[in-house]
Amino acid sequence: MSNPNPLGTTTATFVGMPKFPTMAKDALANTRQRRNLLHATHTIRAKRAAVVDEVPEWQDLRRNGADTKDEVLANLEQYLVQLEQKLTEQGATVHWARDAEEANRIVLDLVKAQGVDEVVKVKSMATQEIELNEALEAAGIHAWETDLAELIVQLGDDRSSHILVPAIHRGRAEIREIFRTRMGQVGRPAPDNMTDEPRELAEAARLHLREKFLRAKVAISGANFAVADTGTLVVLESEGNGRMCLTLPETLISVVGIEKVLPKWEDLGTFMQLLPRSSTGERMNPYTTMWTGPAADDGPQNVHVVLVDNGRTHVLADPVGRQALRCIRCSACLNVCPVYERAGGHAYGSVYPGPIGAVLTPQLRGTSSAIDQSLPYASSLCGACYEVCPVRIDIPTLLVKLRTQVVDEHRDGRPSVEARAMKAAAWMFSDSSHLTKAQKAATLGSKLLGKRTALGAIPGPAAAWSGARDVPVPPKETFRQWWDRTNGGNE
Ligand code: SF4
Repeated sequence: MSNPNPLGTTTATFVGMPKFPTMAKDALANTRQRRNLLHATHTIRAKRAAVVDEVPEWQDLRRNGADTKDEVLANLEQYLVQLEQKLTEQGATVHWARDAEEANRIVLDLVKAQGVDEVVKVKSMATQEIELNEALEAAGIHAWETDLAELIVQLGDDRSSHILVPAIHRGRAEIREIFRTRMGQVGRPAPDNMTDEPRELAEAARLHLREKFLRAKVAISGANFAVADTGTLVVLESEGNGRMCLTLPETLISVVGIEKVLPKWEDLGTFMQLLPRSSTGERMNPYTTMWTGPAADDGPQNVHVVLVDNGRTHVLADPVGRQALRCIRCSACLNVCPVYERAGGHAYGSVYPGPIGAVLTPQLRGTSSAIDQSLPYASSLCGACYEVCPVRIDIPTLLVKLRTQVVDEHRDGRPSVEARAMKAAAWMFSDSSHLTKAQKAATLGSKLLGKRTALGAIPGPAAAWSGARDVPVPPKETFRQWWDRTNGGNE
């Protein structure tokens, strides 16, 4: 039915990735990536700060956004039923998917029913989350990403590393090389004389994608919002690729997380102000497309909406953790995070990187794997993410809560070195006589070390910790001994 894809799978997957510290260590050694990330995040964060400062009622807008999302989450069942009813009335077909497998199967059946072996896609994090491209690929259907950054990631056989700018870790020269070597394998090649000027790179992508847009019979999209009282789906994007996907093909399949619902059409007013300023640092969004089922003789005539749970109701069940479902994927928290800025998005092992990934992913996937257990620790807890979040998600509190959960889950097994050290500290501080004994032992040890001021690397379980620090030797006498010897410092 189809030609093999010369690129192999369309995107690399995150399955089985090692824990965050391991991935971050590799990323830290990549100086070019760190330089790209530093430049990009600082540019976007400065733009965001400037346009947010222009809005005197910004804090009221944030509160309004958070309240609206909380209202949706508290009554999600009712709003979803309303959304389905409205979409159906307008001629769309609604499908429900409990998990990734079910969602992929539904989409695959819909695509197969059209008898095609390729689809175009407008950026959709939900489809990345369920690894739809890989599922389509396995069935011989090529899924072509049409967002410029997603195209770079796909052609480079890479993974997204940012919510909004998936190829943020790539420089212009790298992008030119990817286009030059890979575009011709899957469609129109890049022009021979293409330089790494952004305008020329964008032009190459435009020409390459145009062929795919004009040929495609089926498009797959996500949605930023789904309005319950009108049955309207909304996509915001900056390049116009979304509009091509959403209007040219005959069949449009939208894969939407169930938390994307807004109660009323009027609610869009708040979010259309919050999202562009928080994400791209723009006052308004360049391309906003809204559709409510198929339109007579215009645009896609088969409109399908797949509403995906995939762990969201599990997150919803936690009254504190559920606030992560307010997220509108603006990426502001990534751009201010000192950990993300250095480690980059791949280290988070999920389509959702940065601070929101560190709290959303372990809730969606659970904390059974090494990477998901490590994510709540991928933060300095500085609170910058909370300050910029347009829907006031208290990410630091969620991180602490998830850390507690991870620690609690390991209480029954063999205690960790850290747990044993904490237990010893608790014993020492619980009684002054214990503390005195410990201090005496420490000062005796100190005398044996002579004139040394710092311990070298400590062998055993503390080796990794002490290998990166100068651990000072304990003082030769305790404060109490000094107090007694000097008569309170008077001698
Ligand atoms: S958590 Fe807040 S700041 Fe981060 S992506 Fe989501 S909405 Fe944006």
